[in-house]
Formats: sequence, structure tokens, C-alpha cells
Amino acid sequence: MAPKILTKGLKISMALRTRFAPSPTGFLHIGGARTALFCHLHARAHGGTTVLRIEDTDRQRSSQEAVDAILEGMRWMGLTPDEGPFFQSAHHARHLEEAHRLLAEGKAYRCICSVEELDAMREEQRNKGIKPRYDGRCRDRDPAALGSAPSVIRFKTPQTGEVAWDDMIQGTIRFDNNELDDLILVRSDHSPTYNLAVVVDDHDMGITLVLRGEDHISNTPRQIHLLEALGYQRPQYAHMPLLHGADGAKLSKRHGAVSVLHYRESGFLPAAVNNYLVRLGWSHGDQEIFTMQELESLFDVRRLGRSATIFNMEKLLWLNGQHIRAAKPDDLVSELSWHLNRLGLTNPGQERLRTIIPHFQERCKTMVEMSEKCRFLLIDTIHHYDEEGVRRHVSPDLHRPLESLCTKLEALDESTWDHPSIEHTFKSVLEEFQLKMGKLAQPVRLALTGTTTSPGIHETLLLLGRAKAVSRLKAGLIFFHNALRTQAN
Ligand code: GLU
Repeated sequence: MAPKILTKGLKISMALRTRFAPSPTGFLHIGGARTALFCHLHARAHGGTTVLRIEDTDRQRSSQEAVDAILEGMRWMGLTPDEGPFFQSAHHARHLEEAHRLLAEGKAYRCICSVEELDAMREEQRNKGIKPRYDGRCRDRDPAALGSAPSVIRFKTPQTGEVAWDDMIQGTIRFDNNELDDLILVRSDHSPTYNLAVVVDDHDMGITLVLRGEDHISNTPRQIHLLEALGYQRPQYAHMPLLHGADGAKLSKRHGAVSVLHYRESGFLPAAVNNYLVRLGWSHGDQEIFTMQELESLFDVRRLGRSATIFNMEKLLWLNGQHIRAAKPDDLVSELSWHLNRLGLTNPGQERLRTIIPHFQERCKTMVEMSEKCRFLLIDTIHHYDEEGVRRHVSPDLHRPLESLCTKLEALDESTWDHPSIEHTFKSVLEEFQLKMGKLAQPVRLALTGTTTSPGIHETLLLLGRAKAVSRLKAGLIFFHNALRTQAN
């Protein structure tokens, strides 16, 4: 049971406990991740506890691979639960125990209807224009007369009246009980159904807030009846609007409903993904950019809008760029390391990455971009020069200035390899040969990086270090010389 806080005999509130309860039948996609995020944030902002429950009762469709992918996705997003993961399948006996208690108390019954009989019943209802539902024909059978016939256990759902709850997001929701039929609690193979397992587990884990997608709204009246029959306390419910694509359709793969780890591979930062998911339907003044710490103190599901939210990849990309820009270099080290590793580049270590990162933060919308842009700093030699760049920026009259720059840079002492000395040297070559900055900078950049884009040319030289810069300029001179000869022929 959840601990109760008692003050002078007055129960003021139950400590908030919320859970994320994914079924491990696939990866953690962006919609599921949003549920996990909201559970986490609401709990953090209200002094609550988060529980992770893996709902693996469907043994056919559940897999360890999916469990691992869910855990990894949550870890990446920074949503490590306070408790769990717990596995629902481990509570099998407890689910059955509660179903049998209901049976013994006359609140549930054995149903021996065969599949054929149920099909015929539904067919008849359809023909009469009635919504197909179980008609309760086994409710009043004498249990003693059933013998060992194969059976399921059904719940005696109240047949009159209504059930209602105050949803923290949707407002009051009501269902007429006559819309609900007697739901199966235990199948004929003795496996508990979703509704039974969820209700028993939520109770046993002391869950006080059930936060989930609005696709579960139709389960809630059934779960409320069930928990009342079992004598449990009712948790609060909050059903989140689902995500939709720009075309209004429910979010699917083509809209970006892919694994959150796919977002990692595409170079998104967890802070940006979290920020974006929260801003879909939640706001705090007109602030757009939130750190995780801010969200962990400000978020409240009660302030979520009710309408479906549109997932917009462009906006996410923009936000990612903003987060990259605003991040402390330290906070980008681990994500950049991960991407460098994927590119097969040798990681130069934390210290070096911390130095490199600030030179790229302004220029990148994704971490993939950053890893590609700083690649030239992490490889030994340039093997490929941008052909178009060489054609456009290299000409025979640049050979002597480049050579001169190379000699002058080489003459600098390692200890004076700093911004002012590099700038001074560069300037002296420009003056000596009466050249404009752009004319010399691009061929130098091509020699140093193989490309025509990099941080400022002085910065690029500085970052490379004297030895590497000079050897690349030398190699570039040879390459350009040969390229010009080939062009001439
Ligand atoms: N396991 C269910 C799902 O993945 C969630 C159940 C719930 O949150 O009550 O959809």
C-alpha cells in the first residue's frame, strides 16, 4: 500500500506514485516515450515516485529484446524510474488469487461458452442491430453443475447506473454501465487478462496516479468497477491526448513514430526531445526552451491541453539546434563521443572534446552534424579533398603564398601556437602577397579539412595544433599542384 500522510488524524493526501507500464512488444517509440516522460515529470514536480512495470503477460508477443530497447530508450532520455523494472508476469499467481477471490465472493463467475456459441450470439445481435457484447448467459448457471468443463472467469459488471471519474486532463468522463459487458478476467488457459493484471498491480504497487494515452479511456470504467469489487482505493486518472502527424492522422512511422533511439541516431539531444514532447500540449507562459531541471519542477499534467497534438519534425530540429547552442560543452561530451564512435573515429578523450565542442555549437542542428564537422580534427590525414572546392578556390598564383604561410607557421614555437600569433602570421602573408582574406582562407581550409566549411580559419589552425596544421598544408600544396597540372592537361 502507498504510505499515507496523517496529520492529527486527518488524512491529507497519499504520496504520489505513478507508473509507466509498457508492453514489451516493440521498441520505445516516441508516443510511449512521451507517456514515460510525463509520468516522470509530474512525479518529480510533485514529490512523487515513479515505477516502471513491464507488462509482459502476453508471452507470445513479448521479447527480451524489446525490454532492453525500452530500458535503453528510457535511460537515454534520462527517465530512470525510482522503482523497477518490475515484470507483470511475476505476479501471475497474485492475479489469479484475486480473480478467485471475486469468484468466491460471487462477484465473478465461470463462463463455459464456446467460441462457436459466442460467435453465434454476436451474429444474432448484429442481425438485430444491437452492438455485439456478451449477454451474461453464464451469470446464473449453478457453478456446481459446470464440472471440469473448460471455462473462463468473467466479472459481473454492474448492469445499471453509470460510472464516472474526474480525469485530470479530460475533465469528467461518464459511461453508462449498460454499455459495458462482463469482461473476462482469466482466460481458459488460466492466463489473466490485461484489465485484471493492471488493476491488481496498480493496487499492490500503491499507484495513486494512472497516467496513460487516451486510447485507454475505454478500459477505465471496467477497471474502476473491478477495483471497487476488489475493495481497492481508486487512483486518479489522467488520459493524455495522442500524437498526430501534420496530416491529422494518428502518428505513424512515416510521421516519426519510430524508436526514441532512432532520434538519438539522427543526432537529437535527449534534452531537446524531452523539451519538444512537453511543449506539445503544455506551456508555461511563452517560454519555448526548458531544461530538464525546469520541467522537473514546473510540469503538471493538469495543464495539458485536451486536443490531439501535431508532431512537427522541423520544430524539433530547430529546438535541437537551440539546445546544442545553449548546452555547456561538458553536457555534450557523452553524446558527441557516442556519435564519433558510430563514425568509427578515435575518441580523443573528454578534455580534448571539451575544447573542440564550443567551436561547433553555433553551427550544428544535430549531433550527427557536429560529429561530421569535427571529423577533420580527429583523423590523421586528409584523404579526400572536395573537388568542386579545389576547382573554385585553388589557382597557381596561390602556391607561393601558401608555401610562405606554411614556412611561417612552422617557424612558430609550439608554445606560441595561439590565436594572436596565428592571426598575425596569416596577416603578414596577406600583406606580403597583397591578397584578400577569402582568397587565401579557402585554399588553406581545403588543405586543413578537405572541405570548404569549418570554423573560422584561425580557429581551425589553432584547433588542429601546429604539427598537424603544417603537415596538412604541405600535403595540400602537393595535392593542389598535381590537381592544377591535371586540370591544365
Ligand atoms: N501496457 C499498456 C500499454 O502498453 C499500458 C497499460 C496502462 O497504462 O494501463 O498500452
